[in-house]
Amino acid sequence: MRSPRSHRRHAVIGLATAALVGTPLVALAAGAHSDHTQAARQAIQGGKARNVILLIGDGMGDSEITSARNYQVGAAGRLALDTLPLSGAYTTYAVRKDNPTIPDYVTDSAASGTGWSTGHKSYNGAISVTPDGKPVPTILELAKKAGFRTGDVTTAELQDATPAVLGSHVVSRDCKGPQSMTACPTNATENGGAGSIAEQLVRTAPDVLLGGGKQYFDQTVQAGRFAGLSVLQQAQVGGYQVVTDAAGLAAAKPNAPILGTFAKNNMDLEWVGPTPTKTGTAPSRCEVNAARTASQPHLVDMASKALQVLDRQTRTSRKGFFLQIEGASIDKQDHAANPCGQIGETIAFDAAVKKALDYQRSHRDTLVVVTADHGHTSQIVEGPTEGVTATLRTNEGGDLTISYATAPITGSQQHTGTEVRIAAGGPQAANVLGVTDQTELFFTMRRALGLG
Ligand SMILES: [Zn+2]
Repeated sequence: MRSPRSHRRHAVIGLATAALVGTPLVALAAGAHSDHTQAARQAIQGGKARNVILLIGDGMGDSEITSARNYQVGAAGRLALDTLPLSGAYTTYAVRKDNPTIPDYVTDSAASGTGWSTGHKSYNGAISVTPDGKPVPTILELAKKAGFRTGDVTTAELQDATPAVLGSHVVSRDCKGPQSMTACPTNATENGGAGSIAEQLVRTAPDVLLGGGKQYFDQTVQAGRFAGLSVLQQAQVGGYQVVTDAAGLAAAKPNAPILGTFAKNNMDLEWVGPTPTKTGTAPSRCEVNAARTASQPHLVDMASKALQVLDRQTRTSRKGFFLQIEGASIDKQDHAANPCGQIGETIAFDAAVKKALDYQRSHRDTLVVVTADHGHTSQIVEGPTEGVTATLRTNEGGDLTISYATAPITGSQQHTGTEVRIAAGGPQAANVLGVTDQTELFFTMRRALGLG
């Protein structure tokens, strides 16, 4: 999308990282074969965090990170998400619903999210419930209860798995709105349950809720105090200011909770490009998605607003905030075998990571964690494969061939069961080192916020 300038860009990011960990610039210069011992020593700090910013790239495995890096900043360049001082790998498996002692080696975002948000392993489709369907408290709920401000931001529907696991508890991820409860009869309000994901999210009431999924907020509550109202009206009764476009978001005041719902379903893609084929494509460039709705904020806009509001709300209080920011459509475009879609979403996610790191630079008591929820299909290969491929001409002039080969061309490509990267900086960041399981992230964040 831009002219190649990977070396200059790398130098700039190297500077930012050095500032973060307080080391001489030379230690992080490109290709310097430098000794990172001192930088690592300084980055390992325990203690309490005033704030936690968790950034989840949905389906952002090592291949997804590498193809985005290659395309945008070059193979020797570094994305913002590459600059966190400490990183490790974490395992992501789910467990079987019928026998939770047996792993399900390939997780979905719901079981994965239940893991990192509650510390409990569960089955694919579970939204912060144990395999027997019992709700378990989430890191956002615990933080809110302890007096922290909270935020939940995504480019997907707000009722999609990753944002859902922080503020709702249902036995199936499909139960997104009060009129979409077929898979969760016990959770429905008309049966005495806590309601759909949309209803529970607005009742949990994070201070900032930003994403898509307006169609579920427009559904009608079926029973209880809010029966007959839409979930959006329920949110307004509860004190939310509701905004539906970028201008509304920019104008939203920090003195009341904000519910921003900017699309009927998922938010629009940033980039478009060639469709992979059996025989591959000629080297092509990604383009900005001209069909993107101009009034939708970008992920970085939502991240900036969330940080600004939560910072303002906590300026005079003893407690800080917990904020989750998801780049959701990396996964969705991997499913769709759309390389430019996937890379564009990864780059947009990286811009949000940069915002979080910028914030941390002036708020050192902030733990920033960047990770994924599971691996995905795309592979960087040399030429046509048994699946479908497309070749992209990168900003640095190389040809990057990406293969999708886990489903027929007409089907949805699949998640993979691989471990994924987890990177962090700030208080308690050392707990991501080595190989951990994603349930451990819950305990790391809980410890960082001093939640017991
Ligand atoms: Zn997926």
